[in-house]
Amino acid sequence: MINPQGECPAGWAGGVMKLRDVLNHDRLLLVSCHDCNSKTPLDPAYFALRLGVEHTVEDIAPEMHCPICGSADITLSAHSPLERRETTAPAARS
Ligand SMILES: [Zn+2]
Repeated sequence: MINPQGECPAGWAGGVMKLRDVLNHDRLLLVSCHDCNSKTPLDPAYFALRLGVEHTVEDIAPEMHCPICGSADITLSAHSPLERRETTAPAARS
């Protein structure tokens, strides 16, 4: 499945990412809000403990809301703080 934004988390080859994978790769969950355009990193350990490591990022995305504005219109992805230089930043609005 290709997500509508066509985004691919840096270093992730595709397929279903489980919380286990997020933890194994020292990644954070990243809530990207479509309403206030905030990007909020979250600790996947919290969700892994609460829901189990076999849950996928897609599974928990519908449960997530933007921590900043509370919008449910978010995209949940995995984010590696160690590979930030490889992450494509959204183009600045001109
Ligand atoms: Zn928001």
